[in-house]
Amino acid sequence: MSRLGIFDTHAHLDTPHFDEDRGVLLAQIGEDLEGVINPGCDEISSRFAVELAEKHDFMYAAVGWHPGDVKGIKDDSYLEQLAKWAVHPKVVAIGEIGLDYYWKDNAPRDVQLLRLRQQVDLAKEYNLPIIVHDREAHGDIMDFFREEQDKVKAVFHCYSGSLEMAKELIKWGYYLGFGGTATYKTAEKVREILAYVPVEHLLFETDAPYLTPVPHRGKRNNPLYTELVVQKAAELKGISFEEMAVQSTKNTKELFKKVK
Ligand SMILES: [Zn+2]
Repeated sequence: MSRLGIFDTHAHLDTPHFDEDRGVLLAQIGEDLEGVINPGCDEISSRFAVELAEKHDFMYAAVGWHPGDVKGIKDDSYLEQLAKWAVHPKVVAIGEIGLDYYWKDNAPRDVQLLRLRQQVDLAKEYNLPIIVHDREAHGDIMDFFREEQDKVKAVFHCYSGSLEMAKELIKWGYYLGFGGTATYKTAEKVREILAYVPVEHLLFETDAPYLTPVPHRGKRNNPLYTELVVQKAAELKGISFEEMAVQSTKNTKELFKKVK
């Protein structure tokens, strides 16, 4: 058992932000955390995630093309690469995948929807859960998953929807991922939703190197700061850190079946 007994279910340790001290950080993560799931965003980052998972017991990979990166897909052969990774013992999910209508230079909506459809179908074929990225695309995301609710398991990472949307997702059996934003002064809405979501549907994450929690804002985020998110969630729920740690670790293993 690690010092904190918690997982960071979403961190991008493959990014260059960690090139200078990745080894030192990984050694500390191995002491403090149960594990980290590193999602890929394209071919290079997915491969890096798989390599990290091969080198470290506590690292797990998810593989996929992020909606911000699907415009780089040339043809459907990317699915063959995904299928090869899908059977790897440490590839625990397809992700992160989804829809991102925030950035104007992302692929058109129909292209994003096609790549989401293809990757979700592949996840179902290989019986893997998915990690969903949804930014300013709540309507299309809900239309899509209304049809998928009993066919694929998922976490909506860094949850940013409404309370009404959260209620629907919970009804459909999905998990909601919360990170550093829950600690931000202006994020009252996120805390309100976090306080509402039943503990059986909660997952915790950092989305490192982004979205650094208070009091480290302005610095690079890293998986060790998951502690601050779990602490905040425990406060909001009125339970101990340990109880929240045990429950969220159970949730992590229930969704990501290959996580040990
Ligand atoms: Zn991410």
